Amino acid sequence: MLPYSLDQIRNLALSVGLDDCAVVQAERLDDDAIFMDQWVDSGMAGNMDYLLRNREKRYDIRQLVPGAQLVIVGLLTYEHSGHDYHRAVKSKLYELERLLFPSLAENIQPEAVPSTQHIFCDSAPVLERSWAVKAGLGWIGLNHQFFHPILGSFVHPGELVLCDTIADYQSPIKMQSLCGSCRKCIEACPNHALGQPVWDARKCVAYVTHKCIVCQEVCPFNHHVN
Ligand code: SF4
Ligand code: SF4
Repeated sequence: MLPYSLDQIRNLALSVGLDDCAVVQAERLDDDAIFMDQWVDSGMAGNMDYLLRNREKRYDIRQLVPGAQLVIVGLLTYEHSGHDYHRAVKSKLYELERLLFPSLAENIQPEAVPSTQHIFCDSAPVLERSWAVKAGLGWIGLNHQFFHPILGSFVHPGELVLCDTIADYQSPIKMQSLCGSCRKCIEACPNHALGQPVWDARKCVAYVTHKCIVCQEVCPFNHHVN
């Protein structure tokens, strides 16, 4: 059992430069599995064939990391991520891991830690935004993006999966959507890819060219960035 409280873990995460962090029990994401199966099978995922593979690993992180008990979800804003967000997020999670497990600090290279496969950032079949939501860090907006109430949607989530528990674990309180009656992203989408009732990747410019962030730019929760 880890000798840290939830608050201590979050404070350590902030001390290594993550912008927010929360901890949640590793379990199967049943609701997300139902949604993803329906979405992929409806064809709205377009050519994202990788979503057809490793479905159970994607839905149940314990199949990806045997013995997983906790998922520490860290968020890093685009502003703090630099050009290589995978590296930036993972490097902060490695730092956090070495604080939680001081014996690992003796490793010369973070990558030399034997359990490298339990730190993820866009690098494995992990439903990262779902974990961020499950950890109580935010919600999925009507534009299909993850939103943190203060940081907005320009954030990268990463996960440190642990095979340990903590004494004061409490299930996070799921944050309700703060979209309210707003429909700005749906109205602004040039290709009408949103709101029917979900994101249709086949119509999304960003999915095809990676060059559209209109539905994030118009969002009131990102105005502090704009
Ligand atoms: S990224 Fe662009 S095309 Fe895709 S849903 Fe958002 S506004 Fe629409
Ligand atoms: S633009 Fe409005 S509806 Fe769309 S994600 Fe932002 S708050 Fe939600």
